[in-house]
Amino acid sequence: MLYIGNHTSSSAGYLAMGKRTAKKDGNTFAFFTRNPRGGRAKAIQEEDVEKFLKLAKEEKFGKLVAHAPYTLNACAAKEELRVFARETMEDDLRRMEYTPGNYYNFHPGSHVGQGAEKGIRLIAQVLNEVLKEEQTTTVLLETMSGKGTEVGRNFEELQAILEQVNLQEKMGVCLDTCHVWDGGYDIVKDLDKVLEEFDRIIGLHRLKAIHLNDSQNDLGSHKDRHAKIGEGKIGLEALVRVINHPSLRGIPFILETPNDEEGWAREIKMLREAYKEESE
Ligand code: FE
Ligand code: FE
Ligand code: ZN
Repeated sequence: MLYIGNHTSSSAGYLAMGKRTAKKDGNTFAFFTRNPRGGRAKAIQEEDVEKFLKLAKEEKFGKLVAHAPYTLNACAAKEELRVFARETMEDDLRRMEYTPGNYYNFHPGSHVGQGAEKGIRLIAQVLNEVLKEEQTTTVLLETMSGKGTEVGRNFEELQAILEQVNLQEKMGVCLDTCHVWDGGYDIVKDLDKVLEEFDRIIGLHRLKAIHLNDSQNDLGSHKDRHAKIGEGKIGLEALVRVINHPSLRGIPFILETPNDEEGWAREIKMLREAYKEESE
């Protein structure tokens, strides 16, 4: 089964996201848990959630991949910003329990000159404060392109964070194809080698979701500019190899491509046609 969908606006609630997704033949989606620039989250409407859960069951949706606001910085130099990151994540994880058993993805952070090692320690510290034994949500670290002082620019840095987390079973990784390409991992020429490296350093059992994006820039550019599927430097063929890779079967693929509803519907259709059921 190919689980595919796009990052969608959460402003009209869960049921609206579910319907919008099903209309495009999607069966998973991503959304910001609150305004991406931070700020207060809208109250969860229980009726809306219930209707959505029913729809998701009927439509056989895969796991959702919620996205934390990208302005959160769990390894900021200023303590108040780290406290803000922690409190936001805590609140998001509480809210995620209304839709149990899904994923919550976040950008590890930017060390802003403190050094990656310090950044890694601070990120793990926040995770150790927010993760709870009883939560059903798995928290995903996103692979980053390495622009500026981003932490998570390679598999080693992600693994260094994971190693310092106490509740390991609550953690996973979301691989963004644009980010790893921009980060210098050649998923065009040798996807197998990149995934072998992921397996050796982190372990493929931790790979829970894919952000499926093309890239406007070259391998190793450390830029992070997404392109539509097949219109960037990664290209359609390489991205089709990603969705068909035997190690990535059954995990959600999220499009974060610059599109409108029609564009995403077209990409979903194109990728479904390129997906090989039989190798499952
Ligand atoms: Fe992201
Ligand atoms: Fe992403
Ligand atoms: Zn990106």
